[in-house]
Amino acid sequence: MYDLIVVGLGPAGISAAIYASRYNMSVLIIGSQIGGMISLTHLIDNYPGIPEVTGPDLSQKLFDHAKKFKNCEIKTGTVNAIQKINDIIYVSTEDGQIHEGKSIVLALGTDKKKADIKGEKDFTGKGVSYCTICDAMFYKNKITTVIGSGNSALKGVNHLLNIAEKIYLIIRKDSLSANDEADMQIINNNPKVEIIKNSNVTEIKGINKVESMVVKTISEDGAVLEKELKTDGIFIEIGAVPYSVLLKGLGIDMDAQGFIKIDQHCKTSIDGIYAAGDITTGFSDLKQIIVAEAMGAVAATTAKKYLK
Ligand SMILES: Cc1cc2nc3c(=O)[nH]c(=O)nc-3n(C[C@H](O)[C@H](O)[C@H](O)COP(=O)(O)OP(=O)(O)OC[C@H]3O[C@@H](n4cnc5c(N)ncnc54)[C@H](O)[C@@H]3O)c2cc1C
Repeated sequence: MYDLIVVGLGPAGISAAIYASRYNMSVLIIGSQIGGMISLTHLIDNYPGIPEVTGPDLSQKLFDHAKKFKNCEIKTGTVNAIQKINDIIYVSTEDGQIHEGKSIVLALGTDKKKADIKGEKDFTGKGVSYCTICDAMFYKNKITTVIGSGNSALKGVNHLLNIAEKIYLIIRKDSLSANDEADMQIINNNPKVEIIKNSNVTEIKGINKVESMVVKTISEDGAVLEKELKTDGIFIEIGAVPYSVLLKGLGIDMDAQGFIKIDQHCKTSIDGIYAAGDITTGFSDLKQIIVAEAMGAVAATTAKKYLK
């Protein structure tokens, strides 16, 4: 039986595994994607100590760091059930194995939100994408659209600037909700970017791939205007939902969206079960690598105290 099982191979999970290993705990870390969300990120320039690093590079560095510890076993794969019975935590993986732990850190991160637009499902992978950073390169000199007004949307637009010929940024309100000033400055007044405010995409059209979209705009006086715009790619960057479906049976407290409620020690509502990173309600609403890593470190420390 492991002292600690960590679910999630992203920044939060890897940080928890590193800290727990250094506390000499026996650790198993399981995750389906090495590096988690950052493995899909092009460039990271806000990771203190490493001024500029690509997502895949940082993922590899984090992974290599965890591999250093002999008491840390790493398994890539998908967890399909987690149960706690009589103080033992059972973690089942898709390959049919069941792992037992005295404590657990849940660091499963989030999945991209769907926009529920007519045609969205049919054109997913045929012009509709949920990861600008991953798919932008397919749109060299093409007309592209980013839907969303937060930091992910802005990063997407920023990334497309050097690739696409034109970028529509469709936002529901009349201003952006993003707070990344550096990204905002880059896209503001850039002739390639057209921000369409107070608008929704109501339909995505095409034959075998995306060719156009219908944009509905509500002007200040309440008038509704619908127009069809040509676009080759649509990137939906409207936020994320937590990967908490498989946690429902555990009985831990979550908020209405399924984010795990934690205290400042990363404790959930059940002893022995800790959570870290984007899947939690967190210490703040800043969903970033260093915050996720900080939570991972705190969660491992709390697990160690629990086992004493
Ligand atoms: C486009 C984009 C760009 C970003 N750029 C930056 C940036 O420049 N700087 C920055 O600080 N932050 C950035 N972020 C945010 C950052 O990526 C996240 O805050 C961070 O990755 C959260 O880490 P995490 O470990 O909580 O979750 P994740 O990174 O999402 O990792 C979750 C892990 O859990 C695993 N998992 C999920 N479900 C299961 C399951 N059932 N079984 C097994 N494993 C499972 C996943 O495979 C993954 O390994 C960006 C995010 C996006 C989307």
